[in-house]
Amino acid sequence: METGQIRALGPAPLASARYTMPFTLAEQQARSRWQRFQDCVDAAKAGGYTVPAGHRTVVVTNVSIDWWGSPGAVYLDGTGLGSVSVAHELLHGYGLGHSFSNDTGYRNAPWSQPGEYDDPWDEMSAANVYGSGWNGTYGSTLPVGLVGYQLDRLGWTDRTRVATAGSGWSTRTLTSFQSPDASSPQLLRVPIGTDPFHYYTVEFTRKLGYSAGIPADLVLIHEIVNGTPYLQRTLDGGARLPLSALNANGVSISATISGATASVTVYTASSTPVYGPNTCVGGYVWREGDVRDYACVTGATRLQTAADNAARTSRWVNGPYGPHTCVNGYVWREAWPGDDVCVTGAVRAQAAADNAATASRVLHP
Ligand SMILES: [Zn+2]
Repeated sequence: METGQIRALGPAPLASARYTMPFTLAEQQARSRWQRFQDCVDAAKAGGYTVPAGHRTVVVTNVSIDWWGSPGAVYLDGTGLGSVSVAHELLHGYGLGHSFSNDTGYRNAPWSQPGEYDDPWDEMSAANVYGSGWNGTYGSTLPVGLVGYQLDRLGWTDRTRVATAGSGWSTRTLTSFQSPDASSPQLLRVPIGTDPFHYYTVEFTRKLGYSAGIPADLVLIHEIVNGTPYLQRTLDGGARLPLSALNANGVSISATISGATASVTVYTASSTPVYGPNTCVGGYVWREGDVRDYACVTGATRLQTAADNAARTSRWVNGPYGPHTCVNGYVWREAWPGDDVCVTGAVRAQAAADNAATASRVLHP
């Protein structure tokens, strides 16, 4: 990704070290996944390092035991890769779930749900993703990225380039997440019915950058149901091709690709406002410190943020390495890594508190 951070949660100090566990391999294998994870955290504590509350934690074992990720916790086998990439598990650690398709006849593994792992354009389909084999260290040598909904959920989308179709017919030009050119929308949401958590997304995916492993440029449609993206495929029992056009749920979508853009025409009867993955609960709004700042704050804090942004350069003072010191009385806001707006100490403390509280201020289905 261009922005390898969870912006709403701000900077997190990193710590890593090696600790010895008071268990045999057999003893660890006999325990539950979460107990094994906790055993590692406990071993670190006994060795002198306490994981700060709320920190996402990755543990890596020096013997082969297990390989998984869950929000806030990742457990990896340091002896080598499984069939799933480190990126997949780390993205679980950032809170993403698996991607699905609408093909309930697809079963990836005996333990998986119908349609689960059936979106090869999305890293969250685990081993069932496009790419060109394994390099033994980091996984696929030609990567597949994430589909637009997942980027949106991570807060990695530019909010000014996420559009929602109004009721009736409309046509838009989309650019891709893979090339930052132009200013057109990169993700189009199309409301369905009256449920604000149920909508389609339309995106133009290009065979570039972090999606260099996909076969070709393509328009993809996902149906978002309660926070899970379902790739829309043909359900004819044959090629199961991804759909670039559909007529369903009172919605019509069609698209044509022309070079670096795609033209998408949609119809929806719905005028329901879509609740995307970063929608704040009542009483809170996005801070909007920059285009990816989805922290949920009060209206007063958003106004303060805009005022501080407007004063950004006037509060800088030239230092030996450039204009990156705040004038007396101001400090870096640090609402996200690299945030170089100068604010009062009270505003910086507010930003940190809002970052910590945002997870509890996001509206879920
Ligand atoms: Zn997974």
